[in-house]
Amino acid sequence: MSARTGGLRLFGWYALATALPIVLLGVGLGRMYQSQMDRRALEQAVSEANALATAGIEPHLGGRALSTGLLGPERAALVATATPLLDSGSVLRLRLRDTAGHVVFDAAHPDRGTEAGTDEEAEEAATGLVVRRLTHLNSDQVDARNHVGAHAVEVYLPVHVGGSSRQILGVLEIYLPYGPIARSVAASERLMLELIIVGLVALWALIGAITWSVTRRLRHTAATNEHLALHDSLTGLPNRMLFADRASHAIAAAGRSGTTIAVVVVDLDRFKEVNDTLGHDNGDAFLRHVADSFERLVRPGDTVARLGGDEFGLVLDGVDSLGARDVLDRLEQALAVEVELGGVPVSAEASIGFAMWPDHGSEMDEILQCADLAMYAAKESRAGIVEYSSALEHFSPARLALVSQLRRAIASDELVLHYQPKLELRTGRVVGVEALVRWQHPTRGLLLPAEFLEIAESTGLIDSMTDWVIEHALRQLAEWHAASLPFTVAINVSARNLRDEHLPDKIFERLRAYDIAPQYLEIELTETAVITNPTRATAMLTRLHDAGVRVSLDDFGQGYTSLAHLARLPLSELKIDRSFIAAMSSTRRDNAIVSTVIELGHQLGLDVVAEGAETDDTVAALVALGCDTVQGFVFTPPLTADETLPWIHAHHDIQPGVASN
Ligand code: C2E
Ligand code: MG
Ligand code: MG
Repeated sequence: MSARTGGLRLFGWYALATALPIVLLGVGLGRMYQSQMDRRALEQAVSEANALATAGIEPHLGGRALSTGLLGPERAALVATATPLLDSGSVLRLRLRDTAGHVVFDAAHPDRGTEAGTDEEAEEAATGLVVRRLTHLNSDQVDARNHVGAHAVEVYLPVHVGGSSRQILGVLEIYLPYGPIARSVAASERLMLELIIVGLVALWALIGAITWSVTRRLRHTAATNEHLALHDSLTGLPNRMLFADRASHAIAAAGRSGTTIAVVVVDLDRFKEVNDTLGHDNGDAFLRHVADSFERLVRPGDTVARLGGDEFGLVLDGVDSLGARDVLDRLEQALAVEVELGGVPVSAEASIGFAMWPDHGSEMDEILQCADLAMYAAKESRAGIVEYSSALEHFSPARLALVSQLRRAIASDELVLHYQPKLELRTGRVVGVEALVRWQHPTRGLLLPAEFLEIAESTGLIDSMTDWVIEHALRQLAEWHAASLPFTVAINVSARNLRDEHLPDKIFERLRAYDIAPQYLEIELTETAVITNPTRATAMLTRLHDAGVRVSLDDFGQGYTSLAHLARLPLSELKIDRSFIAAMSSTRRDNAIVSTVIELGHQLGLDVVAEGAETDDTVAALVALGCDTVQGFVFTPPLTADETLPWIHAHHDIQPGVASN
């Protein structure tokens, strides 16, 4: 229910509640008016009866007590007076009674003589009082209990003889119709009645109007206050509180619909410079511009909030990690567009961290903390966009320092490639080498991938690192090819590289630049990477494979690729994970696994490589199982580029099953 319909309903109740006392007041006033009318009607009836008595009755009576009966002329005069009144209906009943109450004359039956019978009102009037009452005609008759007669006013008047003694001769009983009297009274009172009704309705409407306008203003004030409490006044965006609330709601809704959510924290880089050099007004304008850009980029259901200072928050609904990255890439590009502030072109850079629900936590607070941490990592590594990963949890200041050092290392060629030969078991020839990256750290010595790969992947540095490896491995291969050693080089590609759609093009371009045929390049992608991004992995591998690049499925056996999927992947080679190779000689089970994988690879038309062979026995067993290629410490650990060529020359005659020394 909207606030407006809620307000209307409330007001409806209010109008009903106020109508009740006003209606009661109206009923009370109506009653008062009615009794006033009755009183006026009675007064008017008495004055009419009085007039009739003094002008039409008393002058015809001789002055004897009525108990002695009427004389003929008296009766005739009374009949002459009463009959037209009865006939016209202006009088309903006219009787004369003696002081004992007996009817002496009844205008309806003028010929009847005295009728015995008493009447309370008549007796009262006989004492000199005027009695008047609202009644119905015939209501005093025994057989007319239902008040069937017309509504009337009955008046009992003492009848006097003229002169000063004012002796009471009898009682005049007269019934006048109520209607005409009431009408004539009402005519004079109607205006008052109408005024009362109009007044009450106007009062009610006025109270209603005042209340409506007051409540509307109160509601408006309440809404404004709520808005102020939940929004940032500069940009009009939701503030941190509303952001948290929206994120919680989005999470709850996603929980029901089974979708995923990205929570993003964006911190502008060098905003302080804008503020300091261009002034606060321009700083504010810049923040509003950033807010607008964000709002234009997200979908209607998403939330953009200002978390404070130059920090913004986003809730992206129904996106996966790659989808979130797409949005954030566009966001980064939008920020890079220059705007003019105070005559100076200004663009923004931002550190963007994001975390995924439910992958990185189940509660909103957890997710927000993860996104915060990722943003912090992005800032430290100047990596632009960083997705949270558990690796970031160990982001001690030292580790964060490592991130910025790694960025520098890539740019300043502190990385080095070592190469591990791959030997064909059938011939003992070196058929290729695998390029393995190392970092020649200025103070910590030579670092293995285990010490920096995770950081590179979680901060996005992996992209430039892979570019670096491709460039240097191909350059090296070109040198070896020039020295008439036509073997292949294998390059490892991370799961995170799959989102770089341009990677195949960059590879083709570099192959062309160094004039290397594609079949001399091998791309190794782990089975786990393929499983986590099957669509992107298949798309990228297909492009590479179609162009002639060899594709190798690394660490095979670690993941759970279905055989159907495996058969569809565009592969040239399977690399059995070294954990199986290491365990071969000790357990028959691993022997069986290796044997099965070799068989499977061959059935699919793939070369099978065993990596991590450390002993002669292992090599012998692999020869026996028909494995194609072996790589391992048993021949040599990875070598520097300078060591590689002499090693290959010295070991070109390695015989199957015979390790070098
Ligand atoms: P990987 O691709 O499976 O590479 C093989 C690893 O096994 C290498 O470790 C190698 O030194 C080691 N190895 C080879 N023979 C033996 C052996 O007989 N015994 C034992 N115990 N180990 C052996 P390294 O160089 O430390 O690389 C580790 C992982 O780091 C690689 O596994 C690969 O996944 C990743 N990596 C290395 N270089 C790169 C790179 O340039 N880019 C990417 N994305 N990943 C890389
Ligand atoms: Mg590898
Ligand atoms: Mg491997």
